[in-house]
Amino acid sequence: MPGTAFQLEVSPTLPDRLSRLEELANNLWYSWDRPTRTLFARMNSRVWDAVGHSPKAFLKRIDQRQLDAAADDRPFLSNYLKVLSAYDSYHDSKVGINGNRLLGDQDLVAYFCAEFGFHESLPIYSGGLGILAGDHCKAASDMRLPFVGVGLLYRQGYFFQTIDSHGHQQAAYADSDFTDLPVSPVLDARGAPLCVNVGLPGRDVRVKVWEARAGHVRLFLLDADLPENGPADRDITHRLYGGDRTTRIEQEILLGIGGGRALAAMGLKPTVWHINEGHAAFLVLERVRRMIHDGLPFGAALEAVAANTVFTTHTAVPAGHDHFSREMIERYFTGWCSETGVPPTHLCALGEAVGSHDFNMTALAIRGSRFHNGVSQIHRGVSARMLAPLWPQIEPDENPIDGITNGVHIPTFLADEWGELFSRQLGSGWTARVTDPASWSGVHEIPDQQFWSVRQSLKSQMLHLVRHRIARAHSRNLGSDAHLDRLLRHADPDNPNVLTVGFARRFATYKRAMLMMEDLDWLREIVSDPARPVVFIFAGKAHPADEPGREMIRRIHEVAAMREFEGHILLVEGYDLRLGRRLVQGVDVWLNNPIYPLEASGTSGMKAALNGVINLSVLDGWWDEGYDGDNGWAIKPVHDGLDEAERSRDEARTLYEILQDKVAPLYYARGPMGYSPGWVAMAKRSMATIAPQFNAERMLRQYLTRFYAPAAEQWRQHSVDGFALSRRLGEWKARVHAAWNGVRLRRVDSAAQRIRFGEGMRFEVALQLNGLDPADVAVEVVFDRRELTGDPQERRLMGLKPQHALDTGEHLYAIELDPDWCGRMDYRFRAYPFSARLTHRFEMGLMCWL
Ligand SMILES: *Cc1c(COP(=O)(O)O)cnc(C)c1O
Repeated sequence: MPGTAFQLEVSPTLPDRLSRLEELANNLWYSWDRPTRTLFARMNSRVWDAVGHSPKAFLKRIDQRQLDAAADDRPFLSNYLKVLSAYDSYHDSKVGINGNRLLGDQDLVAYFCAEFGFHESLPIYSGGLGILAGDHCKAASDMRLPFVGVGLLYRQGYFFQTIDSHGHQQAAYADSDFTDLPVSPVLDARGAPLCVNVGLPGRDVRVKVWEARAGHVRLFLLDADLPENGPADRDITHRLYGGDRTTRIEQEILLGIGGGRALAAMGLKPTVWHINEGHAAFLVLERVRRMIHDGLPFGAALEAVAANTVFTTHTAVPAGHDHFSREMIERYFTGWCSETGVPPTHLCALGEAVGSHDFNMTALAIRGSRFHNGVSQIHRGVSARMLAPLWPQIEPDENPIDGITNGVHIPTFLADEWGELFSRQLGSGWTARVTDPASWSGVHEIPDQQFWSVRQSLKSQMLHLVRHRIARAHSRNLGSDAHLDRLLRHADPDNPNVLTVGFARRFATYKRAMLMMEDLDWLREIVSDPARPVVFIFAGKAHPADEPGREMIRRIHEVAAMREFEGHILLVEGYDLRLGRRLVQGVDVWLNNPIYPLEASGTSGMKAALNGVINLSVLDGWWDEGYDGDNGWAIKPVHDGLDEAERSRDEARTLYEILQDKVAPLYYARGPMGYSPGWVAMAKRSMATIAPQFNAERMLRQYLTRFYAPAAEQWRQHSVDGFALSRRLGEWKARVHAAWNGVRLRRVDSAAQRIRFGEGMRFEVALQLNGLDPADVAVEVVFDRRELTGDPQERRLMGLKPQHALDTGEHLYAIELDPDWCGRMDYRFRAYPFSARLTHRFEMGLMCWL
């Protein structure tokens, strides 16, 4: 169109009667309360869709007349009051649901993450990590934990995805208008927007602090796009995971250092700091700087900071861990080094990782925290092995990496239709018992017919959205109507009776979206059986720089366009939280087939199970814990010895066999009522067994009891008397490190190799302490029971007691043993530094074996 377009936005005024709509629009509570969202959507669904489901933007764009009409519409008003009453009772109740007595009034948990996925209206997330962080905050609000989140406010969130007629992904980025987002500036004491300064080489960057509310939780978001910053600095928070290495380090400095300063500027004093993934690890350096400024030496400062820091790793491959060149670190932290007096070599040592010269953010996070975890039990083991060099003398099985399996926020991902049914079936208080398996066993009492009718209704809603998205793409790509009918012939919302398998997630290589296309002949046989047709629905984004990821999309598009697969394979564009929610609620089977053991946890399958969708998944991540033999289907990963192509072939064969022999026959074993009783039984089992375990409340309770409460307590102990404990611990560790190389064990006794049950024996070892105190070292005998196969079956540890000094300068340790078992054992002696002040007994990574 010729001419210049000038812009004008005319916003309506809220009628008095509806004034609290603004409050509802400014609290992310709406992201898990569907009635609130429906309230907005009902006023004008076209505007609602046009503003991307942002209540705040909606209130700026809806017509005045429509608002006025709503204010006079009785049914609307009664809905409005119902929503407000639920909102108020949620916010007025400060009572913790689950043991927040573990944290005191003065406690505060600060949770740092590079992305947060609450709702599609706040586009500052890209995938699983962000959604998990959002769920963590939502559960913290439900549990009334003293909790704040810290992240970055990106001008452009993750991109909008379209797929063209050749299957090429097009990434469109749009600037967010922050006045459309549910955020507002934090104000300082004088009522001006609060800003903090962060030093970058040669300049200070000013960072503005925004706040989003999510129920009881406040989320602080940092923004560098201010007129007083130079153009390059304004761009630091431009795009989530955008830019180059420089952007990345500057974003991470803003998050860690700026985040720490923002909390301090608001007078908040967290007693627990949680670093969620390595991006935020510079927080450790900011806190160390402040402790040194307050007079602590470096070693003590690090002890104090680590004492109440929690670090969660989400990555299963070394390449997934963020790292920067040392030169870069030295350049960016020149000011830090001169202010603290810590030499650059000491700083760089904090990020040292075996096999690389680079500064590793995971290594920094581990060295700066005493509580660390992976996000499933398999991932615990993978991380423990991957990070083993950080505790060089400790076996991976015993090092301090813990495992807390992820969980999902039930109110966010459970369809409302289920919520209503559960209130009738499990009792109205079911939301307060979501971690109780006994409560969920009530699912089995739901009449099959009712269960099935909810399933069908959700499937129908999902198919509506899928059809809409496909039709939109089809028309944009200039496809014909006749062809569209063909594409959508098995996706009929009025007749949702075709077995539908969903696969939606980031198109990352290890997730192997292509696995099911390994053997197209076999696949064709499965999907086109006239008596038992199958539809696959794919959705997901590839990172724009990820060529193999984009190639996967292209290839799926290509196969979907083959005549024999038309209508059987649907590729839906524009994956986001909304489409994700619909898919996990609406398909019949949720498919996940990553390369074992690279799926750290995965969470989408948990969302599916909540909604009565059955999982078919590789036994990796959470599914290895969730699968019980009867609540879904499992693909056993093919272990070692095969190359990747062979593994994929083998696992694809298993996948086809399960689909053909198990899934389709069960789904289509329809009885007279129109559904398969066996299918409903399995869907119920899946829901009843998975929901109580893989929800965010269970997850957060574990963080609370294993990490947050002990960390807060440890912080109290450290901080008394000017951090006397941190100082003592720092000095003690330095002394132990210096002496450890000279510590030696020597066997003194000559105990028998065979004894009879009931006979006692005495073990004695001499320990060369090399100047350490006998109480500084623990000496243990480790028994490994060997069955005939030679597998270590059972481990027993027994401590030897210090006796007296020997003439040799050694110290004698001994134990009287009276074994209460029979059989053959291997035993070994070992010594390691001991102090009751350590968080984990092997945190120093030192061990001396005899
Ligand atoms: C749950 C969720 C994910 C995580 O998916 P996985 O397949 O479990 O990794 C990613 N994106 C969105 C939008 C989600 O809701």
